[in-house]
Amino acid sequence: MAEGSRIRTTIDYEQEGKQISFLAVPNSTNDSAYGTVTIPIALFKNGVGPTMLLSGGVHGDEYEGPVALMNLVRELKPELIQGRIIVIPCLNLPAVLAGERCSPIDGLNMNRVFPGDREGTITPMIAHYVCQVLLPMTDVQVDLHSGGKTLEYVPSMNMWACPDLQRRQKTFDAVKAFGAPVSLIDKFLDSTGILNTVFEQHGIMNFGPELGGAGRVDTDTVKLTNIGILNLLRHFGMMEGSVVTPEQQGRAPTRLAEVPDLDSYVMSPDAGLYEPFINLGDDVEKGMAIGRVHYPDNLQRAPWVIQAPHSGFLLCKRPPGRVQRGDNIAIIGQNLDLAKHGLR
Ligand SMILES: [Zn+2]
Repeated sequence: MAEGSRIRTTIDYEQEGKQISFLAVPNSTNDSAYGTVTIPIALFKNGVGPTMLLSGGVHGDEYEGPVALMNLVRELKPELIQGRIIVIPCLNLPAVLAGERCSPIDGLNMNRVFPGDREGTITPMIAHYVCQVLLPMTDVQVDLHSGGKTLEYVPSMNMWACPDLQRRQKTFDAVKAFGAPVSLIDKFLDSTGILNTVFEQHGIMNFGPELGGAGRVDTDTVKLTNIGILNLLRHFGMMEGSVVTPEQQGRAPTRLAEVPDLDSYVMSPDAGLYEPFINLGDDVEKGMAIGRVHYPDNLQRAPWVIQAPHSGFLLCKRPPGRVQRGDNIAIIGQNLDLAKHGLR
């Protein structure tokens, strides 16, 4: 693969202070022969310290992260930080502008194409820039997600149980410092091509919060996200002051949880209308009925009742009522087993 990137920017990653610019991604079309897609990017730098990469909008229908990051760019003063912060609120800008999970230009799901491809279509080309140019300068990577239009999470700060036990503990301490309603050790249904997977392979501390969803912007979730990002900066010594706990924000303490296995992802067994029996955050017992699929075209057919695969709580649910066979309708989280993960 050829070196470098096809994406250009006026950002100088070594310059002190605050810069706002674009990543100019070549996009030659019928309407614009030498056209570019211009993705907003901000850089904050003050002296020597760690570099944090904050991204959102990798999926275009996940809005809390981009909104929180745009708030951060507007309000953060470079003199208040120590180190460097790179902020890209809408990494997959074409998808965000379309309000769709995948890019309307090449149809690709950005979080399945990392580390990207310099010679690829627009989505892998953007992914390649992140891994080729930004990854080598990054110490802490945070990619903000939510459930998008078809899922909704209890706002959670997520990590994966990386093999390096020392880094796992450090990551876990930072997850707790963020102060989301849920602090989660997650398990990917499919980890191929995910941004965090590539940073993980390079031994870089990484986080993948799932902050709400349902295709909306929730007031409380944006607020706790903005506080959570500042908490991370304080936790890593990039900002003065102490972490503001959920209790100090007037919320319940963070719930330490995990997605223990892939059975935790409950898929719809059939097409129809899904009627959930429980709400986000509710406790469930193994075997308990959590919802049922109705058949709107057949009144004589009994609905298909769906049971909880294990005890725990409803971490994530599908807001749209219409389901197809194989749609994810629920994720059942469990209380975290600290000892199993070698965590304190
Ligand atoms: Zn996402």
